[in-house]
Amino acid sequence: MPGLEDLYREIILDHYRNPRNRGEIESPPATIVEGHNPLCGDEITLHLLIADGVVSDVKTAGQGCSISQSSASMMTQAVIGRPVNEARAIIHRFKHMMSIEDHVHDEHLESPPLGDLEALQGVVKFPVRIKCAVLAWNTLAQALDESGV
Ligand code: ZN
Repeated sequence: MPGLEDLYREIILDHYRNPRNRGEIESPPATIVEGHNPLCGDEITLHLLIADGVVSDVKTAGQGCSISQSSASMMTQAVIGRPVNEARAIIHRFKHMMSIEDHVHDEHLESPPLGDLEALQGVVKFPVRIKCAVLAWNTLAQALDESGV
């Protein structure tokens, strides 16, 4: 009988092999930020489009290990279509799950579900890979800051 870890491995491999929302968005209007994880060699170029306070589109390009690439793919699915404050809340939740940030409780905000992203929870057991998992998220946070929303 397959265990939870097998299911999680499947989700991660699926996003790695079939990454969602790969590509580019013209800038402007998109904000483009590059992220780098020198420990592993992971690279990401993130294209962020905000419209009316909503993350209307995110595309990523770059290369790296399965954890960094699948995390980027799942991240795009988690935040596209969400208001900017919810997208920031998801970033905080994910980084909390990765044990690199204390939980920030915001009583005004429903915590959006992490969905497939829960599959990355096992990464916490491998501290050297945590930077792989959070690369896309730090890059998204930087893009949100630079887009001025
Ligand atoms: Zn990596």
